[in-house]
Amino acid sequence: MGTGYLSAFPSEQFDRFEAIKPVWAPYYTIYKILAGLLDQHTFAGNPQALKMVTWMVDYFYNRVQNVISKHSLERHYLSLNEETGGMNDVLYKLYAITGDPKHLVLAHLFDKPCFLGILAVEADDISGLHANTHIPIVIGSQKRYEITGDPLYKAIGTYFMEIVNSSHSYATGGTSVSEFWSDPKRLASSTLQTENEESCTTYNMLKVSRHLFTWTKEMAYADYYECALTNGVLGIQKGTKPGVMIYMLPQGRGVSKATGYHGWGTKNDSFWCCYGTGIESFSKLGDSIYFEEEGEVPSLYIIQYISSSLDWKSGQILLNQEVDAVSSWDPYLRVTLTPTLKEGAAQSSNLNLRIPSWTHTDGAKASLNDQSLNLPALDGSQENINEEAPENNPAYSNVYVGNLSHEGLIKRETRFEIHSSPKMPSATSPNDM
Ligand SMILES: [Zn+2]
Repeated sequence: MGTGYLSAFPSEQFDRFEAIKPVWAPYYTIYKILAGLLDQHTFAGNPQALKMVTWMVDYFYNRVQNVISKHSLERHYLSLNEETGGMNDVLYKLYAITGDPKHLVLAHLFDKPCFLGILAVEADDISGLHANTHIPIVIGSQKRYEITGDPLYKAIGTYFMEIVNSSHSYATGGTSVSEFWSDPKRLASSTLQTENEESCTTYNMLKVSRHLFTWTKEMAYADYYECALTNGVLGIQKGTKPGVMIYMLPQGRGVSKATGYHGWGTKNDSFWCCYGTGIESFSKLGDSIYFEEEGEVPSLYIIQYISSSLDWKSGQILLNQEVDAVSSWDPYLRVTLTPTLKEGAAQSSNLNLRIPSWTHTDGAKASLNDQSLNLPALDGSQENINEEAPENNPAYSNVYVGNLSHEGLIKRETRFEIHSSPKMPSATSPNDM
């Protein structure tokens, strides 16, 4: 008591961690506690939470300082081969709040340079590494770029996504086999079985792609996000039994979630990492549908088509999005957007719409309040249609589209019918549920 140590397991686990003895990822849990407390401060304004975080971090700063002064820096880095979750991520976030150099130093010490160095020299040498130990370190390094502006860490995150997406991912957007990365571009020949795509890795890759989208506005990252969210999050909770989660998402032929090595967990007695993270994953259903961009004219990006409503404060607009259920016999994705202007709404706003890469341009059309819009050549890049705002709806001055077909706006409704080709992969297996 009174040391700044807060955990449901004894601090002796950290003695083992620092002595490079077998122990089950104690920092992974500490990271989750710190992240939750910092969110309490950031989103709920709880002052006690920030005090708790800084006290806990003081405790671990002293521990790491002890390891380095009594043993070596090498010993500390060696210990990072055990999962540490997003320790660097939460410490960079904390440093952004406190400005305390100790928090920055400790964040750097959890960056694991022997791994980030591989990515910094653009070598795809991640085969054999434990995926969920390393993806959170990349997320932390992305935060390092955002906090410090060091472009190396922007490049690291960008390259990492590039190799995972091009060479280590299934069509579902998921990665890893039996928790590890395997040889690049050899997934189909040797890895398809039941223990594919650890659920935590999908959750963490969503975070990686979210950072990249906010930096670049590239729709490819939003496409990736949609694919991974649809296949790797929606499918990890057993539909008829909420709270029952799955560790690994099978990709092999004729295999099933029900009969895999891990299979479904139990409602109250499973404590895999993928239980905590699996439940957390469902917060992703609502966290990356809308993005806003500051500027003279406020901009809103709608990059996921998920039925939802948004109180967009910068634009003073209430926006309702309704997505009709997609069915195999209907080749259109039908989306209705209904904006309601609030008092003090801006004279104009930019509305940016993602056109998914799995749509195609046959019969492409778009209109705004019954006026047809001229579509640019649809080559998959983001384009600006640049329409004047109709008099009865000053909320829209521009519609940006990518690779689309669109249809119709009526009064205050914006309707899109996006022709989809059947390229969307599905993670369901025959004996599912
Ligand atoms: Zn996991």
